[in-house]
Amino acid sequence: MVHFVGAGPGAPDLITLRGAELLKRADVIIYAGSLVNPALLAYAKEGCRVYNSAEMTLEQVIAVLEDAERGGLESVRLHTGDPSVYGAIREQMDALDCLGIPYDDTPGVSSFCGAAASLRAEYTLPGVSQSVIITRVAGRTPVPEAESVAEMARHGASMVLFLSAGMLDKLQAELLKGAYTENTPAAIVYKATWPEEKVVRCTVGTLAESGAREGIRKTALVLVGDFLGAAYERSKLYDPAFTTEFREATQ
Ligand code: SAH
Repeated sequence: MVHFVGAGPGAPDLITLRGAELLKRADVIIYAGSLVNPALLAYAKEGCRVYNSAEMTLEQVIAVLEDAERGGLESVRLHTGDPSVYGAIREQMDALDCLGIPYDDTPGVSSFCGAAASLRAEYTLPGVSQSVIITRVAGRTPVPEAESVAEMARHGASMVLFLSAGMLDKLQAELLKGAYTENTPAAIVYKATWPEEKVVRCTVGTLAESGAREGIRKTALVLVGDFLGAAYERSKLYDPAFTTEFREATQ
């Protein structure tokens, strides 16, 4: 059996209990290179075969998983954060389906949740934004035209940009074509929840210069939106004047 497992954002105790159990039991682990904290590999049992997928093609990954399956072994394919976000898991699952190899998927804490925790931020603030846009700038991997950052930025919603820290000039220009202004709050979070985490608070207008000053080019998220600012409305759920299914209004 093959287990896809989300490693979480970095800190080794942010993997799920289920994910850690699967890692401990695995005979074979294929992990997603430098994006996975090596400390997580300490869960591996004696004699476990460990592969770094950064040096492998899809075909090589599948060949290792197939070989393990034929030998009656348990494999873990360890992805950073949650496997469903930029994890390239669909193509692996489809290849396993073709080979008749069974698999399951254990979710993880995505780095966009780790980054919010590091910033002590809430993406969905009442009166500010009730949506989170997860996207990236187009690089060597294209993004559909209708989903360009400039297009997405028209909403002015809370936004998280993956895989974009190496293109901050382009990102800043695209963001400014939408509803965000030079003064809209922004943040760059490098290696959220890792010991070497770095949090840089800035604005959309100072995004590129802030990234350059801190020397951040990869393994970082860019967060943009007024949810990083001071103003918001308090929630109805906990408002004394608001009746809910579980509580009568007291004012
Ligand atoms: N599946 C992962 C994302 C993989 S794509 C997840 O759910 O988080 C790899 C990109 O994710 C990196 O280029 C970076 O933009 C982001 N990333 C992954 N881990 C990160 C972390 N700990 N801190 C900041 N960004 C991270």
